[in-house]
Order: sequence, then C-alpha cells, then structure tokens
Amino acid sequence: MWHPFTQHGLEDRKSKIVRGDGAYLHTADGRRIIDAISSWWVVTHGHCHPPIVRAIQEQAGKLNQIIFAGYTHDAAEEVAARLLRLAPRGLDYVFFSDSGSASVEVALKMALGYWHHSSKQRTRIVVMQHSYHGDTVGAMSVGARGVFNAAYRPLLFDVTSIPFPAKGRERETLNALAATCQNERPAAFIVEPLILGAGGMLMYPAWVLREMKRICEVSDVLFVADEIMTGWGRTGTLFACEQANVTPDIVCYSKGITGGALPLAVTLCRADIFEAHYSTDRTRTFFHSSSYTANPVACAAAKANLELWEDPETRCRTMSIAAMQEQAIEPFRADARFENVRRTGTITALDFKANDAGYLADVGPKLQSLFKDRNLLLRPLGNTIYVMPPYCVTAADLDEIYAGIRDAADALS
Ligand code: PMP
Repeated sequence: MWHPFTQHGLEDRKSKIVRGDGAYLHTADGRRIIDAISSWWVVTHGHCHPPIVRAIQEQAGKLNQIIFAGYTHDAAEEVAARLLRLAPRGLDYVFFSDSGSASVEVALKMALGYWHHSSKQRTRIVVMQHSYHGDTVGAMSVGARGVFNAAYRPLLFDVTSIPFPAKGRERETLNALAATCQNERPAAFIVEPLILGAGGMLMYPAWVLREMKRICEVSDVLFVADEIMTGWGRTGTLFACEQANVTPDIVCYSKGITGGALPLAVTLCRADIFEAHYSTDRTRTFFHSSSYTANPVACAAAKANLELWEDPETRCRTMSIAAMQEQAIEPFRADARFENVRRTGTITALDFKANDAGYLADVGPKLQSLFKDRNLLLRPLGNTIYVMPPYCVTAADLDEIYAGIRDAADALS
C-alpha cells in the first residue's frame, strides 16, 4: 500500500488499528492510543459514537446506494433540510459530494458557473497566503504553492494571493483584498475562516473575517468559506463564520459532517447561484457529479450527527473542551522552547522553536516519533504541534497529551 502524506523511505513504522472507541484507538498489539487530532480532524463526538453507528447500521440494510441524478432519498433530504436550518441564514441550496477537496472543486465551479451564466467576465480567484483547500488540482490551485504541490505546478491555474492577517498587520490584508477586488474584478475569494489548518494552524480574529466579507460584498465578489476543518464546533461555535456574523455566498462542509464516520461533503450556496444555472437550456446544467453523490449511508450518519448538534448539550461540550484546552496550554506560554502558543475554540497550537521552521522542519518527524512511542496520535505540521481532540476527550487524556508534548520537548532540547 502507498499511504497518503507518508514518506515511505523514512517512516515505515505503521500501527495497525483494530478498534476505535471514543477518544481511543486500539492497536493489534494491545496498545491504547489517544487520538489527539481526531484522525485528521474528522472525528467530533468520538470513534464509533453509538447514535451514529446505529444510524449507519439501520440505513445500510435499507438503501445503501442510489444514483442522485433524477433520484432522491429521505436521508439526503433530511440532511439538506437540517443543514439549511443550522448553517448561517441566507444559504438556500445544498450540493452533495464525498470529500472536502471535491466540495471545494464544486464551490469553484459554482462561482465560475454563476458569472459565466450571468454573462460577466469574472474568472479569477483570490486566495489567502498559507491556505490549504485540498489535494485535487483545482483545490491545490487555490492553496499555497510549496512543497505539497511543487511537482504539479504546471497543472495549477493562476490565482491572486493576499497576505495572511498576522497580528498587527490585519490592515495589510484588508487593503490588499480591497485593491484586488477593485482592480482585478475577481469571481470569488476563498478562505478558511478563523484558522488556516494545514498551513500551520494560523489563527486570525473574527473581525478580520467580517471585514473581508464586507469588502467582497461591496465589490460584488463571491465570498467562499472553506469550513471543512473549522466546522462542527472546532472553533467554539458550530461554524466559524457565526463568530463574525457572516453568511458566505458559498460554503464547504465535510470532515465532521458525519461525526467523522463516513466520507461526505456538501457545498451550500445562495439561491441566485442556483438560479443562474436554472434554465430550460441544458447547456446551463451544473455539470458536476461523482458516483457516490449523497450516498444514503453517509447521509444517515450525517443526519445522526446533525441531530446531535441540535442538542444544546453538544455545544456545551465543545465549550468545556475549549476551557480545558486553555487550561492545558497555559503553562506553555511561559516555556521558552515554544512560541506562538495559541488557541481558538477547541484547537490549540504551539510552535517548537526551530531554525528551519516550516513543514519540512527537521524536528517534525522526531516529534512525531516521540509521540508515537507514548501512544499519542499527534501529527505536527513541521515544528507546529497542535491538539484537536474529539469532544469526548477527558481532562486526564489532555494531561497525558500535554505531558507527552512537554517530554518530547525535553528529549529534543
Ligand atoms: N480544506 C481544508 C481547510 C482542509 O483542512 C482539508 C483537509 N485537511 C480539505 C479542504 C480537503 O479535504 P479532504 O481531505 O476531505 O479532501
């Protein structure tokens, strides 16, 4: 097997997992691993969360796949209706796909289709420095250029990038966005709200998000929010855009949409984007599909997840995780071996000081190996260590995670 984001020449030590349960993974050789990154940011309520497992079991025996062109089913309809209730007000249509990257491709195609069918020449996409939106070609094109995609550069389309709103330099970002919107008349601006994930868990405040939306609005530029990582409680609210009181024109959700049990994604949009495609003319059809669009079993898992989010208890849980995370990260602010100790909602991140900071920092694989030895699933982004636990994590689990981080720093210092 060829594993994702894995350099087989360097790391050939793989753990075989036989069972997942809450915040824990159990290995074939009897170890219990704490999943401190929610298995690539997808697991929200915990592994094998009973209501989600039950929903999957029930649906699997009833209808487990159906073409979604010309056909529909209860699970998809209920997910769409519930999503439109929970998402920021003003979003009207739900398009299903099966991965975060696919939902970004859909968002880009919706944006360009909208302008094309409105007979306006707007094709350029504006992005934020250090962004990551997925690994398909369109999603890579709107992501940061770097080691992840250097080999595929000839395939990537050109975009305009505005600087990341680093603390104290937010105005530079806003001015760059305003100038680009004025001068280039772009089709859309795509951004990860509040936290840039794979770019290094870079955090920026809600007022900047709000201002970016306002700038797009006055310039008639579509505002696309990629909430693939930030959605489902990670930033402290169900969706990050809520904190800025912003309704994107197009938004992508995936990862935790099924509680992390099955692959599913959605792209939500405003009515006028759908309506620009609505016609008796078949050439205006939205030409996007994948075989498993709105797979009923994945939709059943999503429906069970959405029911959990309608329960105030789930939101309280994320709030208490955020408080526990703050308490756990606090001592690291005074630890000279770390910098940029930060938290937004349930996510914490800190940079282990290194001369070669960045994704390829030498300490990255060393840290990861030390964590593995302690049965902690942590996967630093270079010298950036972050903790993004499922919401069933306990204070004792967090103690174990942060003790592991402290001991790894001791071992490397
Ligand atoms: N956008 C963001 C912000 C992400 O974090 C990710 C995945 N880490 C993606 C898009 C791509 O999602 P997927 O891996 O499901 O294709």
